[in-house]
Amino acid sequence: MQTRAAVLNAVNTPIEIETLELAPPRVGEVLVKVAAAGVCHSDWHVVSGATTHPLPVVLGHEGAGIVVETGPGVEHLRVGDHVALNWAPSCGQCFYCLRGSPSLCEAYLEPIWGGVMMDGTPRFSRNGQPVFHFSALGCFSEWVVVPAVCCVPLPPEVPLAIAALIGCAVTTGVGAVLNTAKTAPGSSVVVFGAGGVGLSAVLGARLAGASPIIVIDRAPAEAYGGSGLRSTHFLVAGPDTIDRIRTLTGGRGADYVFEAVGSTAVQELCLAAATRRNDCLCRVGADGEQHQPAWRHSDAPGEDGEGQLLWQFQPCPRLPFTCRSLSTRPTGFESALYEFVSARTD
Ligand SMILES: [Zn+2]
Ligand SMILES: [Zn+2]
Repeated sequence: MQTRAAVLNAVNTPIEIETLELAPPRVGEVLVKVAAAGVCHSDWHVVSGATTHPLPVVLGHEGAGIVVETGPGVEHLRVGDHVALNWAPSCGQCFYCLRGSPSLCEAYLEPIWGGVMMDGTPRFSRNGQPVFHFSALGCFSEWVVVPAVCCVPLPPEVPLAIAALIGCAVTTGVGAVLNTAKTAPGSSVVVFGAGGVGLSAVLGARLAGASPIIVIDRAPAEAYGGSGLRSTHFLVAGPDTIDRIRTLTGGRGADYVFEAVGSTAVQELCLAAATRRNDCLCRVGADGEQHQPAWRHSDAPGEDGEGQLLWQFQPCPRLPFTCRSLSTRPTGFESALYEFVSARTD
């Protein structure tokens, strides 16, 4: 079959809408009609060359859609299922999966970053030449073939635009707060960056019962719908940002700081000034392959260097957890997600 897709042919060139061939699903794969997809900074890293990837590639790694065909051996999905697309499939059995880090799965990591399915080939092609999938997905396409393990079935009442955000931004932000940092109720939380991941971290902080929840961004809250984004304080970044954070946190800095900008400079600023001694800086954003912070675990702000520094860029996907939260906390979490989506689509 054919599909229209957004294709990156070369680094630092415009993405082009092209018609590609799409081969049918093979063993363990499904064909999905994509209903919604989010744009994540990780897509941009491929465009800018900050992340190297085989080209040409169909970008898009947070999406949702409806299963229209299942390949042989697919058991947990049926035609018609609504699914969120998980960019980090995992086998559940390898060294990292068994240690609670499925986003580092040894079975899937290599094919994912090679832009291919598990048999080493992509399903997209153009004039007989391969076109690669980003993050096992490539959901900037009307139709996509993906590993079935990437598909997380959702209740049909979950809007697919929200389901798409669960595929990366919500899982990463909420997961960082609840799963990686295990934020305790009553903790003070600072989130740098009010993009998709940062706003999701705010949602996670609310779910965790944190207070205050302080968001810092270069744009004012009005740029995000004027709602305050469910934080308790929204600060426009400036020279007094650290002083204001310290004023709001008893002069000590926050218990938990989430850096969701993907800026090494901001991460180092957080470490130096915004995080309370002996507590937690969670580096959620990624700055591309070339930029890594100069500090090491021993530089964490705790006394005797014992502070917690969490290195995971992308906390383990907990999509089933997030989806369960969606269905069991409809008033708080889902309404916040609605607000979040509308703020980003205005
Ligand atoms: Zn992403
Ligand atoms: Zn694994």
